[in-house]
Amino acid sequence: MSDITDAYARPEEPTRHAARDETGSHARSGLKLLTAAWVCPVDAPAIERGGVLFDGPTIRAVDRLDRLERHLAGAIREDAGDAVLLPGLINAHTHLCLSDLSTSDPEANGLRNDFGAWLLSIGKRLKPTEADYADRMTEAMRRGAKESLEHGVTCVGDIAPRLAEADVCVERALSDVPIRCVSFFELLGLGEMRGAFTEQFERVRRWVVERPFGAMRRLNVGISPHAPYTVDVEGFAEVVDFARQGGGRVPLMTHAAEHAGEEDFLRESSGAMAALYQKIGRSLAGVSRFDGTSIGMLDSVGMLEMGAVLAHVNYPTGDDLDLLARHGAAVVYCPRTHEYFGHAVHPIERMMEMGIAVSLGTDSRASSPDLDVLSEARCVRRKFPGIDPGRLLQTITSNPARALGLGEVVGTLSPGKRADVCAVGIGAGRGWETILDDVSGERAVWIEGERV
Ligand SMILES: [Zn+2]
Repeated sequence: MSDITDAYARPEEPTRHAARDETGSHARSGLKLLTAAWVCPVDAPAIERGGVLFDGPTIRAVDRLDRLERHLAGAIREDAGDAVLLPGLINAHTHLCLSDLSTSDPEANGLRNDFGAWLLSIGKRLKPTEADYADRMTEAMRRGAKESLEHGVTCVGDIAPRLAEADVCVERALSDVPIRCVSFFELLGLGEMRGAFTEQFERVRRWVVERPFGAMRRLNVGISPHAPYTVDVEGFAEVVDFARQGGGRVPLMTHAAEHAGEEDFLRESSGAMAALYQKIGRSLAGVSRFDGTSIGMLDSVGMLEMGAVLAHVNYPTGDDLDLLARHGAAVVYCPRTHEYFGHAVHPIERMMEMGIAVSLGTDSRASSPDLDVLSEARCVRRKFPGIDPGRLLQTITSNPARALGLGEVVGTLSPGKRADVCAVGIGAGRGWETILDDVSGERAVWIEGERV
């Protein structure tokens, strides 16, 4: 093990740094040492019999237990036992407000081969015109956030409900759930419904200006123009312009290349997505055209340059992947949702080979059996056994942290970052990689050093 622990040594020797205080005493209030059979810092090799030292809400040191121990007479200690300590897991793409929906709904399941019809059925099931809609959305979000914590997910990239008072809804929903969240206010409406986009965007701009990135403790807000078949090219460009004026601190997310044939919609308003508009009797007359793929369109308006998070990217074509690699784009693959809709094999392996940072997401409870992003990683492990376990772990920790603009705050167990930690139980004597197998391991979570 010595080569591994040596490789892990940090420039600032963590144990001495951790133990010193102004008086030279080893006892220091607020120090807590959490230990376990394994510690996976993610940005360094796994440590057998290791610990994470919390200094209040912050990680002070991460090291082998014998090296931490001799300096820590005053620290509160907690042992997670036969478990792996990981950075709190991050679900890069979800819709918590849809947590009342379920993949066991036979009516919706019957429609999953026709995405447009499925999407419309979701809208109906939510009953948005009823008076208690906002309350139901708030409650569903809260439930989804609590469920996430139970799975060890301490941070989500979440699409906020589309409501006139979405900002109030999000803040109420998360007021008593200590999860970290980047909440993306969603915009859509083109053709005949372009007025709705303009109206929503005006509100969203105000909400985002009122809540600059980093101003709130665990909540940040961003914008999600929904998809290339629900927002026109000008709409994406307007969002990019606004984000640029904000100094690049406005997180952006969109659903991109989720379906085959999005380019048909862009080029000539045809294909499955155009059929959706026919179904609801809405005209696409006057919607501007783009001769290229949806990734190409997003590039042309500056979404890639702005570091937008791209959910799905199931069907890249042409030079889409080169564009993504060149821009250092962040892609979110939602494996079980992908499976639910029966999409063609996802290009995650090719993306990883090309250096594209892939994160995993659950998407919503309407297409995923739960909000457990570790189960998504296990699904990837089954489908693509060649992916290195360490790299797979990055897709639910460090990659989504960077994608959501929180790379300096969370995503690895590193001194100085927030003490958001997840413990996953494993059998005695097992290796840390066991967490990626399909065995249920108990989870425990600490946010900013506090067990929740
Ligand atoms: Zn989604």
